[in-house]
Amino acid sequence: MAAAQDQTAGSPATAYTHDPALEQLIRSKIRDVPDYPRPGILFKDITPLLADSAALRSVVAALGAGFGPVDLVTGIEARGFILAAPVAACLGAGFVPVRKQGKLPAATYAESYELEYGTATIEVHTDAFEPGQRVLIVDDVLATGGTARAAVELVRRSGAEVAGISVLLELAALNGRAKLAGLEVRALLAT
Ligand code: AMP
Repeated sequence: MAAAQDQTAGSPATAYTHDPALEQLIRSKIRDVPDYPRPGILFKDITPLLADSAALRSVVAALGAGFGPVDLVTGIEARGFILAAPVAACLGAGFVPVRKQGKLPAATYAESYELEYGTATIEVHTDAFEPGQRVLIVDDVLATGGTARAAVELVRRSGAEVAGISVLLELAALNGRAKLAGLEVRALLAT
């Protein structure tokens, strides 16, 4: 996928290449839970993957590899936190939480987006990003893309730059990528 890029401090030595073995590992470690949290939703439960040390290590490396220099990795509440923080540590970058409305203690920027029913709002501290910083956005699942799009807007509000969007799993039928045109979007597995 992404070609090797110039390496500087804070970026890994390895570029990401499409990995069928990793895809198979992820597929085997994600549990489908029908009708959770509501009837009709097939929930992709990543807890079996998180509990497998080798799988977790491989996923964290693959999520962060080859985006070039990254200053900060941001994860989206709540499962995005679990993946983004170790990615940040591996890249030598900092971690920034993007949280649901009302959870962050200091001044925030907010972005709202459409859900199937109603709207959702996510927030980030106004001082989390600085102009010119390169920020990698990490989450577990890309579905309709609304959450990731809102995270992109939050990064850009501070004048920071989105280095890419990296997810464990993409639900391709929902075409979330359409909301992320022009951005590098990586899914370790697409179903
Ligand atoms: P979306 O904004 O539609 O792309 O939804 C992405 C967000 O919702 C991510 O933060 C996911 O954690 C969560 N999500 C959406 N659909 C699912 C699903 N089928 N299983 C697990 N999480 C999901």
